[in-house]
Amino acid sequence: MRSASTVPGSAPRAVFAQLADGRPLTVADLTAHTGLPRSTVVDALRRLADAGQVEQRGPGRQGRGRPSHSWSIAAPPGPVAVVVAAAHGTVVGVVTTKGEVLSAREAEPLEATVEGRRAGRALTELDLALADASVQASELSMAVVGLPGPSGFTRQSGTEADQPASGHLRRFRTWDGGSPTELLADRLGCPVHSENDANLAALGEAVLGAGAGLDTVLHVSLAHGTGAGLVIDGRLHRGRSGLAGEIGHLHADDDGRLCHCGARGCFWHSRSIPALLAALAEAHGRPFTLADVARAADEDDHDVVRALLGFGYALGRRLADAVVYIDPDAIVIEGSLSGASGVIADGVRDAIRRYAPPTMARGTQVLVGTLGEMAPLVGAVALGRSEGLFAHVADLRPSSGSSQLAETR
Ligand SMILES: [Zn+2]
Repeated sequence: MRSASTVPGSAPRAVFAQLADGRPLTVADLTAHTGLPRSTVVDALRRLADAGQVEQRGPGRQGRGRPSHSWSIAAPPGPVAVVVAAAHGTVVGVVTTKGEVLSAREAEPLEATVEGRRAGRALTELDLALADASVQASELSMAVVGLPGPSGFTRQSGTEADQPASGHLRRFRTWDGGSPTELLADRLGCPVHSENDANLAALGEAVLGAGAGLDTVLHVSLAHGTGAGLVIDGRLHRGRSGLAGEIGHLHADDDGRLCHCGARGCFWHSRSIPALLAALAEAHGRPFTLADVARAADEDDHDVVRALLGFGYALGRRLADAVVYIDPDAIVIEGSLSGASGVIADGVRDAIRRYAPPTMARGTQVLVGTLGEMAPLVGAVALGRSEGLFAHVADLRPSSGSSQLAETR
């Protein structure tokens, strides 16, 4: 008999995702956390137990009443390898399914060619990151590649997202003439998934960072461009084309520069950290780097702090509109800019107080990310949980009913 779930395998995935961090949970817990009917949860557990992926513990006593059995994963899934290949650089790491970063490496952007990117640098860094973490490729449960452009989870995953219409994005998503996910899957011998790089950072901060425990979190990426990711109940809202939250491409100037997205006068041309660095360099007659701005904020350099507050206020003016549309619990400002992130958050908070309706402005916390540059690496684990990627659902047969399920409640 088919379970109550309409998509085969989706209930076991959902149940397994709740157990993926190793905490034992009862059927009642799992029913509450997944929102699935109890009978569906019990069926999913039976199928996962048949496949050797979960095991029953207990009975333990919780408060009054009958003892209750709990369930846990039979063996924790292996760590996750993450490669984030963005325009500004490459970040590679290995993370446990609890979100602990075992190793992390930063490198230059992948070498660009007319057709796409050369994968060599990513593969070398990946080998080094695995060695740093003392993890063999065969131990990995999966790998995640973070790329500019639409998520790999858009609707029918794979087709549209792997071949974006924009030539600019296609060149980012072609490695050695082929697909980054296929190349890494061949190399590592484990499932490989792709997600937008800013979405990974958003998931990391929303689920396992500053926004942990909150329902609706809008994360704003700033260091290398201006983007946002919306996470609702631990899951990304990606939108129809997988590009929801690209706030850098809000229209700001009718006569502005042509943008790589195909539009003109996009917000990020005038309001982004790279634009701010260029303006500071022009005003002060010397180059400004991200590290310079972070240091200046830490040292309370008034000129730079003023510029950062103004930047935060301009950003917050646009985010105040997002507060009305979304009514989030929190806006999390990327935390990798050291003290500068806090100053920008102050500007954002002022603008939201000024422009959003008072009740909504009061209810929206403006927080600074706590994971810094590790956010996209940790986000890969959050992605695995939210999309149920840690359960090997292909291995699951329909329930045989053969396993011994103790009475559960
Ligand atoms: Zn644009």
